[in-house]
Formats: sequence, structure tokens, C-alpha cells
Amino acid sequence: MSSSGVCNAYAQTGNCRYGSRCKYAHVEGVDLKDSNNGTKRSQTSTQTPLDKFFAKYPEFDYDSSASASMEFYRMCKKFCWGREDDERQSAHDDFKDALVQQFNHIYGTDANDLASWRTLCQIVHVSPIPDTLKSCPTKLGLSTAPGLLIPQRG
Ligand SMILES: [Zn+2]
Repeated sequence: MSSSGVCNAYAQTGNCRYGSRCKYAHVEGVDLKDSNNGTKRSQTSTQTPLDKFFAKYPEFDYDSSASASMEFYRMCKKFCWGREDDERQSAHDDFKDALVQQFNHIYGTDANDLASWRTLCQIVHVSPIPDTLKSCPTKLGLSTAPGLLIPQRG
């Protein structure tokens, strides 16, 4: 039986022999059938992690051709987020995660590859492009190298 208290029979078939006397909740379209709706999702899979991050803020008109960092600060202004605002802090955390995912998405996970870093800097329009590995994360608005944000195995 479902641990969430949802009636499996009803969720899967829309029918349940216990009807209204069933002790489980009769909910349609719960996540039991999630693997079947991949057809609708093809569009979102082409989004980059940064696109997805900004998509969470539909009121903000994200310009993917502009610098991601500048776009983030522009968004903070739009929502009037102060430096100490919890909303800004959590958005910034998500933003950093998105940058890290963007990095991994495009270059794999080699955080020690300066060339990859410089390409990422280019993509987010950091200028001038840093020429040392150490300065890249700072230029990208990260307090630590992406590699350190990724859970280490073992
Ligand atoms: Zn039922």
C-alpha cells in the first residue's frame, strides 16, 4: 500500500472497488505514472541550468545573451532585494548552484581546468577574463571553486 495514503488503484486506473468507503485518498494523476509524460518535457531539457534558474522568476525578464552575473544583480534590483534579505541569499545560493551546474553541464566536472573556467567566464561575460585559476571563481561571484560545492564521493 502507498505510504503517502494515496489509493494506488484509483491513482492508476481512476477506479477503486471500495469507492467512497476506501480508507486511502482518491487522487488522480499522482506521481506513480510520471515516467509516461516525457513527451511534454522535451522543451525544458534544452534549457541550461541558468535558464532554469531564471525561469523560476517569471516576473523577471531574463536576457540570456547578457552576463549571468549582471542579470542576477539586475534581478535583485527589480525585486528590491537588499544584501541581507533572506530571499536574496537563497536566490544567490541557487544562482551559484546553477552556475556550477552550467559549468558541469558544458565542461564536465574538471574544476582545475583553467581553459574551461575561462570559457565559462566568457559565456557569462566576465571581463576581463581572469588568467589565473584562483581568480576565476571570484570573478564569477562564487566564494569557492565549483568543485568544492559538488559533494565528494567517498
Ligand atoms: Zn481506493
